[in-house]
Amino acid sequence: MSLDTDRDTRDALYRRLAELLETYVATVRDQPIAPAAGTLETFDFSAPIEPRALLELVARELSRGQVHTGHPGYFGLFNPAPAALSIVADALVAAFNPQLATRSHAPFAVEIEDQLLRAFGARFGYQESEGAFTSGGAEANTTALLAALTTAFPEVAERGVRALPGDPCVYVSAEAHPTIVRAARVAGLGSAAVRVIPCDAHLRMKTSALRDAIARDRAAGALPLMIVATVGTTSAGTIDPLDAIADIAERGSLWLHVDAAWGGLLALVPELAAAIATIARADSITFDPHKALSVPMGAGMYLSRRCGTLAAVFADRAGYMPRNASRDPYARSMQWSRRFIGLKLFCTLAAAGWDGYASTLRGYCTLADRLREGLRASGWIVVNDTPLPLVCFVDRERRDGRFLDGVARAVIADGAGWISMTRLSTGERVLRACVNNHRTEPRDIDRLLAALERARASC
Ligand SMILES: *Cc1c(COP(=O)(O)O)cnc(C)c1O
Repeated sequence: MSLDTDRDTRDALYRRLAELLETYVATVRDQPIAPAAGTLETFDFSAPIEPRALLELVARELSRGQVHTGHPGYFGLFNPAPAALSIVADALVAAFNPQLATRSHAPFAVEIEDQLLRAFGARFGYQESEGAFTSGGAEANTTALLAALTTAFPEVAERGVRALPGDPCVYVSAEAHPTIVRAARVAGLGSAAVRVIPCDAHLRMKTSALRDAIARDRAAGALPLMIVATVGTTSAGTIDPLDAIADIAERGSLWLHVDAAWGGLLALVPELAAAIATIARADSITFDPHKALSVPMGAGMYLSRRCGTLAAVFADRAGYMPRNASRDPYARSMQWSRRFIGLKLFCTLAAAGWDGYASTLRGYCTLADRLREGLRASGWIVVNDTPLPLVCFVDRERRDGRFLDGVARAVIADGAGWISMTRLSTGERVLRACVNNHRTEPRDIDRLLAALERARASC
């Protein structure tokens, strides 16, 4: 068979696809969240499979071959259930396949992304900003480090880290995401460039320790370059003290990057935005629509008030690309040929409006409060302090890792929910449950609470 399919086959495939998508949404609640992995046959690619049979096969294997992060009882990492419009948008993108390297090739797509970047920049308080859609937070954090490095040491663009007059240092809290360390390796600085600053009792970066570390590095002849503050740490959803950190960054002329990959959702809920009111003091921000905003992976954002730095890092010349390309996406991104990442966000936001998102996200917080209350009422201790819908907890009496791990496993085996265990920077192990799904309801919280009771009794 050739790559082209006839009209009837396409019709049948698209119709069946629509059915499969709807069936998945309608039945995921009744499926095991974490199916037992089966074994997959070995495919013989010299023996073609009929397209309709192939569709059934793939749908079946997806259904039993993954943790169903879109299940309303999935309280795991920051993976949402994609909103229907975002799925439709992503399918359209696959079909039309616009090339976003240059504006001239895809003016609609580039304009939509630029409008979204400006709109989100404004939500975070930037009056003027530049930015780029990324594959996710890892790319956005790496972009931030490259921007900071190239801004502080423009000669790096040509001569690389050999041009550096000393060792640049990057400061993160002990609860920060490991992608910062990876970014340091990718940038050629090495992981030793990253200084891990301890946290206070609320798991926020200890600013006195930050100040001391910067002073120590300066005295030793090193080059303090960038501070990464986290809004919504991955383990516990805590928020570093942005204002105090911004003061330190400003005084020492360090680039301040705020990693708000998930926690940036606070900017979209008016009554919660005060918790990150000063985020616009950051030179740059990471925010991942594919975490809190119910769109499929990969959709990240890098935003910065330092207009022009992206071009300094990324602009190249190629004979076949337009000259004067600073407004072209390829000149402000690690990616070159690239998917229309922004459409899935555009469609959900345009349909729901800011208010629609605010009410969904507010709903997550209300559900997380219900979980906190239920946990406290039945003798669990909530150990993290955050306005975000992420709850870390331990049993009043038994706090050892083996017990907690047993509880998490029992809850998953029970089928009532998916939670995980995490280790905080204090070394303490805790259970972790995050509300991040627009289909999660109060009954899902109650089911989780009941399963936790059963798990506690059986472990
Ligand atoms: C998830 C996360 C990242 C990494 O983002 P990806 O989208 O997975 O690449 C970085 N920082 C924080 C705080 C995160 O939660």
